Amino acid sequence: MADPYVLENGSEIAVIGGGPTGSFFSIFALKMAKMIGKELNVTIYEPKDFTKDGPRGCNRCGGLISELLVQTLAVEGINLPETLVQRGINSYRLYTDHGNVFIGTPSHEKTIATVYRGGGPKGIIGKGKESFDRFLLDLAVSEGAIHNPLKIDRIEYNNIRPVLFAKGQRIQEPDLAVGAIGVKSRTYKIFEDMGFGYRRPETVTAAIAEISTHSSAITEYFGNSVHLFLLPIKGVKFAAMIPKGTYVTVCILGKDIVVNTVNNFLDNRVVKSILPKTETYKVNCRCLPKMNVRAPKIPFNHRVILCGDAGSTRLFKDGLGAAYIMGKAAAKTAVFHGVSKQHFQKEYYPVYRNIIIDNKFGKVLFAVTDAFKVHKALNKSMFRVVQKEQLEPSSQKILSSVLWDMFTGNELYKDIFRRAMNFPMFFDIFKGCIRI
Ligand SMILES: Cc1cc2nc3c(=O)[nH]c(=O)nc-3n(C[C@H](O)[C@H](O)[C@H](O)COP(=O)(O)OP(=O)(O)OC[C@H]3O[C@@H](n4cnc5c(N)ncnc54)[C@H](O)[C@@H]3O)c2cc1C
Repeated sequence: MADPYVLENGSEIAVIGGGPTGSFFSIFALKMAKMIGKELNVTIYEPKDFTKDGPRGCNRCGGLISELLVQTLAVEGINLPETLVQRGINSYRLYTDHGNVFIGTPSHEKTIATVYRGGGPKGIIGKGKESFDRFLLDLAVSEGAIHNPLKIDRIEYNNIRPVLFAKGQRIQEPDLAVGAIGVKSRTYKIFEDMGFGYRRPETVTAAIAEISTHSSAITEYFGNSVHLFLLPIKGVKFAAMIPKGTYVTVCILGKDIVVNTVNNFLDNRVVKSILPKTETYKVNCRCLPKMNVRAPKIPFNHRVILCGDAGSTRLFKDGLGAAYIMGKAAAKTAVFHGVSKQHFQKEYYPVYRNIIIDNKFGKVLFAVTDAFKVHKALNKSMFRVVQKEQLEPSSQKILSSVLWDMFTGNELYKDIFRRAMNFPMFFDIFKGCIRI
């Protein structure tokens, strides 16, 4: 007997959420199905209009597209158009309480892109740029997906088939429902209420603020570098300033982020020293979005799968890269294998679990970084080691590369951890501590 969980020609897939995960899933599901001569009907439910500026079109994010994701997308034939990229990034500048140091990309090229996920901050100056989420959603539509602007408000099982409701009306009974809903709304309740064991991911609150000034001032003060702050500010793990067209996006990640955290950060002595004069810039908008820090244990059931931020994602970095990996893994399982719980367990879960395991290494690395941040002597010595590495052309730049990879999406935490276990590097740092 044919497996009822294998997708057939004409099978229907409902994708709830048209952020990066939903669009990546749809693009790959449609491409893969064509490869094996099947035609799928994919509908993406996404109420947000990503062309709108301000909160209406915004998916609240730093908007850094990692070097690895830019390259991976290019290999997939997805090239980010000029109209999308706000600024090319070729370096990081790392700030500690004891000074700052420049860390260039290994290739010295502008290989990291900064984008807006929606239309940008409210009343954005210098229009003419596209939104990343709109670009991906359009790509999915050009592959054959249908974009429906409805918000899904309930899903029920009917004989192990998901039934979708919007505005109280039954709207679809697809062969597969994909939850690409992120963590920034209360939609997780819909999947929790289905009763198969899904629980929303554990989250922390982060802060984002958009600072506007003249584009010449952005170039003068921030250049093509992401400015990264490892400062002992209460509750703040690290913060980044990401230059774009006429704005700088400030992202603050940590544990006890509250409304005032942005002001406290901007008032910090080190941060103040690099900003233009207070009267020449303005904080245009700010928000406190949620960030996934622990994946749900049960992300799928028969004909239902959750991926991206609603499932497992990379800890504190490269969420967009994880959206690509998990969206594609879900598509591959659904198209080439099937949509039962067993299919997802066998084909999707290993990819899901790899991210969870890698994040455990990330947690250890961030705990060590925290220790370096709060202990003055360690902080000073770490800073000097990076500075020395950057000044010596023949240096292997171990600590610089560890820091670079910690905050960009290039490497797995596991590999960074392995590289960080370098005795001569730790010896240099501790020797520096004794001298201080
Ligand atoms: C402060 C902060 C900074 C970040 N910076 C970066 C960064 O610089 N680079 C990076 O790679 N990652 C970054 N991330 C992570 C990144 O934002 C996420 O990993 C990424 O957005 C996940 O994509 P997603 O599609 O899974 O979820 P989302 O982007 O959240 O998209 C979910 C979509 O689902 C839709 N939706 C929700 N409920 C429903 C419903 N009921 N019906 C229909 N549609 C629905 C929403 O409207 C939304 O469009 C950052 C995150 C935070 C919090």
